[in-house]
Amino acid sequence: MTISAPSNLGPVLSAKNLYRFFHAGNEETQALRGVSLEVSPGDVVAISGPSGSGKSTLLACLAGLDEPDGGMVSVSGEPLSRRPEQDRAALRARSIGMLFQSNNLLDHLSVKGNIEFAQRLLGRPNRDRAARLLSDLDLTGRAAARPSELSGGESARAGLAVALANDPALLLADEPTGELDSATAALVIDLLLDRAIGGTAVVIVTHSAAVARAATREIHLRDGQIDTSADNGERVLAQA
Ligand code: ADP
Ligand code: MG
Repeated sequence: MTISAPSNLGPVLSAKNLYRFFHAGNEETQALRGVSLEVSPGDVVAISGPSGSGKSTLLACLAGLDEPDGGMVSVSGEPLSRRPEQDRAALRARSIGMLFQSNNLLDHLSVKGNIEFAQRLLGRPNRDRAARLLSDLDLTGRAAARPSELSGGESARAGLAVALANDPALLLADEPTGELDSATAALVIDLLLDRAIGGTAVVIVTHSAAVARAATREIHLRDGQIDTSADNGERVLAQA
């Protein structure tokens, strides 16, 4: 009997040997120095590390919002690095959901409008999905509200709804709970973990020990490198 294999066998996210340098005058900051990472469907990777260790730079490179100076990022088997911005934006809209500390909502659109806007970037408005996201995130009653009218918790959930608007294979979150009260933070984390159970690959930059415990893998960054002396355990993939 032949079982047809899913087309997306293999990691959702593959980052190989990423380097990123910043220059200011004569100063050079080596924000990433050879970071490699693979994330498969259902994985939850928690990235920690001191301030300035390169966490946000890594996430921006993984999202294709920033170009690494060396190395390569692929998402769902497609290269994301060294492509025209238009191609990167298309791949991002199709496959990547992003959640940041400051929310990713457009001020002039309602909550529902923000979700639909994200869907239109892909050319695929999906009212059913938008309605389901609103309901899953307990935002149905706030669908018409503008971001400025939302409470912190509502805003966090709305940001997540936008990140999930196109059912991404990969979800990237940069300290998504940093400014939330603990109840809302716990809710956001639960929702992220739910997505992973549903097969999404999740990468979360976080200082939360609770998130690290819930993650399937923990990666500690130090000075732009994966710190293999930290207790990353056997779950850290080799820095190939
Ligand atoms: P983290 O998120 O772990 O706090 P970042 O990735 O923001 O760290 O920063 C890593 C290093 O790169 C820091 O030294 C930071 O100052 C530097 N850096 C980040 N972005 C820029 C930039 N756009 N221009 C110059 N330096 C930057
Ligand atoms: Mg940061």
